[in-house]
Amino acid sequence: MIATHNPGKLTEMRALLAPYGIAAQSAAELKHAEPVETGKTFAENARIKAMAAALATGCVAFSDDSGLVFDALGGDPGIHSARWAGPDKDFRFAMNRIQTLLIERGAKQPSQRRAHFIAALCLAWPDGHVEEFEGRVDGVAVWPPRGNAGFGYDPLFLPDGFDRTFGQMSADEKHGLPPKGNGLSHRARAFVKLADACLR
Ligand code: IMP
Repeated sequence: MIATHNPGKLTEMRALLAPYGIAAQSAAELKHAEPVETGKTFAENARIKAMAAALATGCVAFSDDSGLVFDALGGDPGIHSARWAGPDKDFRFAMNRIQTLLIERGAKQPSQRRAHFIAALCLAWPDGHVEEFEGRVDGVAVWPPRGNAGFGYDPLFLPDGFDRTFGQMSADEKHGLPPKGNGLSHRARAFVKLADACLR
């Protein structure tokens, strides 16, 4: 099962598993409520989500904890990336908040607007066994946000070496794995490690 209630993540996680012939049900489909994320790191929160789901459902559970980290903001929003969008999950609001804070700190040049997407993936078995992997992609925050593809902070994030934000990329470009994509995203990079270790 895929231990997320985030529809954007669910789509990407399903697409990553599909080439391995794995069709997973989501936490929402299995009526599994999301646990409170009390961890202090992406990895801890990924483990909390996967373990809770595996124990509650008896399935192998696959979770992701991820977010956008800014050097100029001392790592924020980081593990609080979802929370910055508020109860309405308003990511325009969250991106505005980031831009306001960056400007308050005088961060106008790309070198002052460095950002990193980080994904911690966890596979948990009902017997307590876990496998954990992390991936990251570096870039800068553009303003204004560009594109309507993807989800969350995608329109804000311009990965190094590209002239289009994640919000302007196709799914294959952002998180597709070879031969269709380049495994560019933080989630795809972590998943390549997971697949090497667990899905051969
Ligand atoms: P959490 O892992 O459930 O705490 O939520 C992570 C949050 O980080 C998501 O709700 C998004 O706002 C953001 N995020 C994580 N990965 C991505 C991505 O690939 N694109 C855009 N936003 C992301």
